Amino acid sequence: MDAAADAGRPVPWQEAVIERIAQQTARVRSLFLRPQHWRPFTPGQHLDIRLTAPDGYQAQRSYSVASAPAEEGVYELVVERLDDGEVSPYFHDVAEAGDAIEIRGPFGGHFAWQASDGGPLLLVGGGSGVAPLLSILRHRALAAPDVPALLLYAARGWDDLIARDELLRRDEAEAGFDLVLALSRDRPRRPQDAGRRVDAAMLGDALARLGGPPRLTFVCGANPFVEAVTAPLLDLGLDPATIRTERFGG
Ligand SMILES: Cc1cc2nc3c(=O)[nH]c(=O)nc-3n(C[C@H](O)[C@H](O)[C@H](O)COP(=O)(O)OP(=O)(O)OC[C@H]3O[C@@H](n4cnc5c(N)ncnc54)[C@H](O)[C@@H]3O)c2cc1C
Repeated sequence: MDAAADAGRPVPWQEAVIERIAQQTARVRSLFLRPQHWRPFTPGQHLDIRLTAPDGYQAQRSYSVASAPAEEGVYELVVERLDDGEVSPYFHDVAEAGDAIEIRGPFGGHFAWQASDGGPLLLVGGGSGVAPLLSILRHRALAAPDVPALLLYAARGWDDLIARDELLRRDEAEAGFDLVLALSRDRPRRPQDAGRRVDAAMLGDALARLGGPPRLTFVCGANPFVEAVTAPLLDLGLDPATIRTERFGG
């Protein structure tokens, strides 16, 4: 069923099988879910997942879709382990390929990008906040490779970078895509990267590299990260109407 045809109807829960699990970093795993009914989505959107314990207790959380819509049939979720968390450790310590979980969605209207939205695009992600930005970048490469895009990606260290090899490869191969890494507890490996947290100077440099004001800016990560990025972006003169944020919590 296409997205327009079922707009407005409640989205039901359905079963999805974990087809494959890939360890991204020490604390992050990708789960590839195959639902009974795959629904099209716009990059940036998220799924709700629901776990039910044997005693009937349920826990529900949201996870951004990291795959591109062209990968029909499967949704990739990128889940970071929070040691004191209720749900995310399940995906690291318990879940196995072949298990079934309940999902609902995809949902989300504001934090979403489609090719017709155009660019330039400034994408700023912290930690697992890169997940929806990966979906946008993967879709851009297929559907709108001429749209200029820059990803400023903050992580603790080189080994904490999700989809690191893919992003470095895209940076090399895709004209119009630029990757800048901000490593808060590691040394930078490339001249364009920085060994510190994202700050106003780094955001200013990113805007200069993009070569013009972004048509849209997407900022995603934990609450303090989103705050730390959006305030300087406004100081640098970006129109608030062009900035879209997704907060993961924390
Ligand atoms: C729209 C949306 C999309 C999301 N997409 C993703 C995603 O792609 N990948 C992903 O890993 N998470 C994502 N999240 C966060 C996710 O929904 C859960 O909040 C997260 O996995 C923690 O759940 P938990 O049950 O393990 O921890 P909880 O038991 O809910 O919380 C444990 C503690 O960790 C804090 N906390 C929650 N999230 C964070 C965070 N990001 N950073 C630091 N502290 C935090 C809580 O405030 C609490 O104190 C998304 C959230 C939203 C709203």
